[in-house]
Amino acid sequence: MNKTTPEDELNCGACGYGTCRRHAVAVYQGIAEETMCLPFVIEKLSTTVGDLEDSHRSLESTKEALVKSEKLASMGQLAAGIAHEVNNPLGILLLQANILLEEIDSSAPMADDLKLIVDQANRCKKIISGLLNFARQSRVVRQPTDMVELARDTLRTMPIDENIMVRVESTMADPIAEVDADQMVQVLTNLVSNAQQAMPDGGALIIRLSDTPDEVTFMVTDTGVGIPRENMDKLFDPFFTTKQVGKGTGLGLAVTHGIVKMHRGQITVESNADPGAGPTETTFIVTLPRHEL
Ligand code: ADP
Ligand code: MG
Repeated sequence: MNKTTPEDELNCGACGYGTCRRHAVAVYQGIAEETMCLPFVIEKLSTTVGDLEDSHRSLESTKEALVKSEKLASMGQLAAGIAHEVNNPLGILLLQANILLEEIDSSAPMADDLKLIVDQANRCKKIISGLLNFARQSRVVRQPTDMVELARDTLRTMPIDENIMVRVESTMADPIAEVDADQMVQVLTNLVSNAQQAMPDGGALIIRLSDTPDEVTFMVTDTGVGIPRENMDKLFDPFFTTKQVGKGTGLGLAVTHGIVKMHRGQITVESNADPGAGPTETTFIVTLPRHEL
């Protein structure tokens, strides 16, 4: 009955026994219940209430996460629908404009206009393919992949500014994970190019890899401008971008989120955008199960 010291023994008599000890003896003999002790029941109730509060809180946050992923999923369906519809006419437009461009004299006044049409149509194509990527219901093709090698290879294929210092750090006990390598390259490419764009005046970009027997984690850190608190909730929404028109499509993180979720992983972000609170920086953390669950 949670009575360990003599002071705990209130001997209040509420249980019907003269003393706590008598009650305890009766419980031991099997002729009384410990729940007959009022202080004990109250204590038990208060821990139950605490447990209930905890599970309520975790339910709330699960619900929030569900609503979020539901929103992204329905956006994905819509996006896929639009993308498919627009893709064909866009292809025809591009084809015809290219044919016209070849047919007319390159010095003709119309040539520049036609080039503009081709450029802009190409831009649309890029947006559409990003959308299809985001909405892609394609399956994850898992293959044993060396995550450290994948990180190094991805960086090697990317044009990195000279004033940015790049580093890959690994504390992985086992670098091999069963992931879709192509999709992981896409995730890293998106995170690294965002990191770069956040450091127009240079800085440091670090990819840290770590693992447990069941999970692999990579963190992409940059010493860039950081992400203001008010943007944190919108980062993974398709088309959310703070970049100039023509620079960003706002699809990178939406696609990244989709890929990580398809791997049954987690993606989180920590950032400081306030120089007053310390150096500004951003870290994206991706955790993936090492094997298919
Ligand atoms: P895009 O890069 O086309 O804008 P993303 O989905 O990749 O789209 O990113 C969305 C937005 O998230 C960016 O416009 C930017 O405001 C913010 N963001 C993403 N990564 C970083 C980062 N490393 N540092 C600062 N801001 C970032
Ligand atoms: Mg981006």
